[in-house]
Amino acid sequence: MQDRGSELFISDLHLSAHEPATVERFLKFLAGDARDAQRVTILGDLFDYWAGDDDLDDPFNQHIVAALRSLSALGVAIAFMAGNRDFLFGERFAAVAGVTLLPDPCRYDLNGLPILLTHGDCLCTDDADYQRFRASVRVPDWQAAFLARSLADRKQEIAALRARSEAEKYGKPMAIMDVNEEAVIRLMARHQARALIHGHTHLQGCHTHEVEGALCQRWVLGDWPADRGNALACSGDDWHWLDLR
Ligand code: MN
Repeated sequence: MQDRGSELFISDLHLSAHEPATVERFLKFLAGDARDAQRVTILGDLFDYWAGDDDLDDPFNQHIVAALRSLSALGVAIAFMAGNRDFLFGERFAAVAGVTLLPDPCRYDLNGLPILLTHGDCLCTDDADYQRFRASVRVPDWQAAFLARSLADRKQEIAALRARSEAEKYGKPMAIMDVNEEAVIRLMARHQARALIHGHTHLQGCHTHEVEGALCQRWVLGDWPADRGNALACSGDDWHWLDLR
């Protein structure tokens, strides 16, 4: 159990009805460690996909949203950044789930330390095809046009996009799907951040980078496969991993 006052960071759970063990572990986390935290920050890809806030009526989505709401009702702040799978979250979702939406990237003062939060896909600049796709779908006009289509139509399109990206992934070397170090340093320098927390790559770990002469840490959150989850717990100067089984 965490001391009250710690901040927890998680990402890349890819929750879906097809992965019941991960869903169960997430609900256990919300009812356990998360209750003792001061704030829980979700850095993207909580859901396997989000077709739009009109999908809040889906029973699976309702179940997850109700669990988030129960946590926030206990006074635990929940901050929420969208990932590349669930970037269509909107204000209605935020209101119903009781979460605060964060922009990507987001600068945050953690006990006096200026840190930067991002989902992490913006840092994968070696993957030019992906960055082109990302740039095209992150414009308000594209999103408005997409959300104007029927929910069934959107779900079909998302499934087709997913199948295509899964197929493309096999042809790509691992290195280009990781973050680009220069992009990391540039982003941290631009925001004058002294630490960075992100997910997306699923490569859980902690790295040190030199940013404008200062040694800065970059913490990468892992995904939640069927048999385990992970969270980064920050309490004062003590930052450590929680291994969630
Ligand atoms: Mn992602």
